[in-house]
Amino acid sequence: MAVAEAPLTVAIIGSGPSGFYAAGALLDNPDLDVRVDMFERLATPWGLVRFGVAPDHPKIKSVSSVYAKIAAQESFRFFGNVEVGGGISGDITRDELTERYDAVIYAVGTQGDRKLGIPGEELPGSVAAVDFVGWYNGHPDYADLTFDLSCERAVVIGNGNVALDVARILCSPHDRLAKTDIADHALEVLRDSKITEVLVVGRRGAGQAAFTTPELKELPEYTESGVDVAPEQVADIDEDSLSKVAKRNLGVMRVYADSDTEYGQRHITLRFQRSPVELRGDGRVEELVLGHNELRTAEDGWVSAHDTGARETVRTGLVLRAVGYKGIAIDGLPFDERRGVIPNELGRVVGAEREYVVGWIKRGPTGIIGTNRKDSVETVTQLLADLASGKLRRHDRDGSVDIEDWLAERQPDLVTEQGWQLIDAAERTAGEPHGRPRVKLCRTDALLDIALNRTRADV
Ligand code: NAP
Repeated sequence: MAVAEAPLTVAIIGSGPSGFYAAGALLDNPDLDVRVDMFERLATPWGLVRFGVAPDHPKIKSVSSVYAKIAAQESFRFFGNVEVGGGISGDITRDELTERYDAVIYAVGTQGDRKLGIPGEELPGSVAAVDFVGWYNGHPDYADLTFDLSCERAVVIGNGNVALDVARILCSPHDRLAKTDIADHALEVLRDSKITEVLVVGRRGAGQAAFTTPELKELPEYTESGVDVAPEQVADIDEDSLSKVAKRNLGVMRVYADSDTEYGQRHITLRFQRSPVELRGDGRVEELVLGHNELRTAEDGWVSAHDTGARETVRTGLVLRAVGYKGIAIDGLPFDERRGVIPNELGRVVGAEREYVVGWIKRGPTGIIGTNRKDSVETVTQLLADLASGKLRRHDRDGSVDIEDWLAERQPDLVTEQGWQLIDAAERTAGEPHGRPRVKLCRTDALLDIALNRTRADV
């Protein structure tokens, strides 16, 4: 009698976009009998879509409906509030996962922030944009942070989309934010903000900014204000050497520079060729010293910034560094400290068997949400090739029963897909009377109360 082949079992660690796209790519194979279990440290899924994408970008957030469809499939299970790590830091370990699953995919993103490395950086009032974003998006790890918005000018260091997100949120009229799913605690603090100008500083030129054009173009509409760009900083730029996006950005910035639109209650100023040199203040940030840079173009076309020695002092009480995210090492797996990623070949972790990576921990913090789809498909393609070549084998086990028992023992407050559905429904219902997509629960205890009590009451 032929013995039925055991299903392929895959654990995905992390429930952000790259994790869901990996799950989707696995489940999208009609001829493959596969079971996918997704583990998430937090009580809620969707990673950056819930905690990174700005609350006033609901269209970008609507991609979560794709993830909900994946999660609804029978061969998929969600296990939230489970931390994977070694020793006391985790509920379960990497070794336990590789013992129980045929393959493990890490989709853990990049949870650390990069530092500026300048004197005064540790002063209160100098903060990582990552923390500010987590705070206004209701991430439980950041819900208890406090931000002092009593100064008139905030400064954002960096010229990426995160810099524009935080600048825009700081400048948005309150009634606009009140219609979003921004955390209630942030809404309250932003309502009383005294900030009238957010200065966004780039170390290179207007032609080298990493913003994408729609994000740059929407600023006047979202902040109900003109954007201050110094005309001389967008003049005399050799456009032939610029990328398509940079050319489009420059076009938008030139319109801002030429515009005589009045500044609103709050406005954004873009300044280029300036690097943070020092933060000064008596017990907290009061001034930022900026160094002026000149640009030099290398033979390969790369434009770099060089200190001219000129200095400028800006009064400010809040400096947000938005200079990129950085991955955090996973116990037992190789790690490239400089790039902040797990070394891999097309998603196969170097020096490991049956372990794979997707998303920002694989390639670094670049690209938009959709970029992760292609990236996850690439990794899953390698995983399936390993299965076909025999490098990866189905073990003769179906962990559907004992995995749940094992997890319940390790984490009695396990949040399943059913528990998340309860949270999701409760948040959406709370948002309805106020015309908001949801009112986020921002503390793990509150999330668990909903996910677990009602689940228990149901049984
Ligand atoms: P990013 O796009 O890599 O931008 C980082 C910025 O920091 C660059 O302008 C970089 O300048 C600057 N920088 C780095 N080190 C610096 C230093 N020591 N001093 C001064 N400036 C420094 O990173 P991000 O803004 O964190 O965004 C991460 C990814 O998420 C990006 O791909 C972004 O597009 C994406 N994202 C997308 C959206 C959206 O679609 N709406 C929203 C948020 C984020 P150099 O270029 O000179 O290195």
